[in-house]
Amino acid sequence: MQNKTTDKHIICVVETDNGYQNSTLYDKAEEIINQQTSTDEFEIICMATPDYKEYNYEDDYIVAYFAQKLATIHASLVLFPSTFICRGIASAIATRLNRALLTDCTAIDIKDDVVYGLKPSLDGKNMARYKFNGPTPYIAVMKDVAGSSGIQNAEIIFSGGRGLMNPDSFDALRKLAKCYGASIGASRPVVDVGWADADEQVGQTGSFVHPRVYVAFGISGAIQHLAGMKDSQCIIAVNNNKHSPIFQFSDYAIEADVNSIIRNMLQLLGVKL
Ligand SMILES: Cc1cc2nc3c(=O)[nH]c(=O)nc-3n(C[C@H](O)[C@H](O)[C@H](O)COP(=O)(O)OP(=O)(O)OC[C@H]3O[C@@H](n4cnc5c(N)ncnc54)[C@H](O)[C@@H]3O)c2cc1C
Repeated sequence: MQNKTTDKHIICVVETDNGYQNSTLYDKAEEIINQQTSTDEFEIICMATPDYKEYNYEDDYIVAYFAQKLATIHASLVLFPSTFICRGIASAIATRLNRALLTDCTAIDIKDDVVYGLKPSLDGKNMARYKFNGPTPYIAVMKDVAGSSGIQNAEIIFSGGRGLMNPDSFDALRKLAKCYGASIGASRPVVDVGWADADEQVGQTGSFVHPRVYVAFGISGAIQHLAGMKDSQCIIAVNNNKHSPIFQFSDYAIEADVNSIIRNMLQLLGVKL
């Protein structure tokens, strides 16, 4: 994986969506290097992100921007933060440049010039080890373990779904969760539109959780979501449709408008919206 131009392994750390250096990601890059016997063969380069708004969030332009930068840097490995925008960009770049991509990666291991990425298995109980193949740069979307919501071990989870209708309501749910010391969870559509982070998604393609209390706000209870939270000790669901499948799996069913419930609870707790 060595760079023929500089004779160094260049690890490229991509900034967060709003243009800040991601210190957790930088620490991860340093961690990778510190595990090596000859650390001076490695170099970390931070890559600035384009102004996504200026590019109108259009993949073609953004991918061209990264492709051009990566060609100049000759990176061996590119670490993207696990944000909504970066996950999309990372896969678009990998597809366009025909490079290996690993998402939800928690650690990178380099042995004898071979790069491996580690990520949790589907049930979250084991770690799977993937070998990167093909030409560099290898692309990894790193799960922000230190800064993540940590829902896998949470005792209480307040989880929001499409029934919340807009990002402001999701933010109101975050405030409510804070009052109860609860972690935030989310259904996949909510993550897809960017109201919640990928690390907060519960379900088959998100995290598997088993809290003492799981409160589902405006979540229908699709099988892929249930797969991730059905082991919760106590499930409370708020939904305005009494036929929603989630009610069949709930210990307490509240048939009501989710936004009224959240706002009223915040008001009772004296929290300003
Ligand atoms: C391969 C695959 C993997 C997937 N993995 C996941 C996964 O990991 N996690 C996941 O969550 N999904 C996953 N999905 C998507 C899943 O199938 C569902 O589409 C998703 O869970 C639905 O999310 P939701 O419940 O938020 O939205 P919806 O199904 O749209 O439900 C919204 C709910 O809100 C209620 N509602 C609407 N307005 C209000 C209101 N004002 N007050 C109260 N309630 C209201 C509605 O009655 C409804 O029950 C996956 C799908 C596929 C195909």
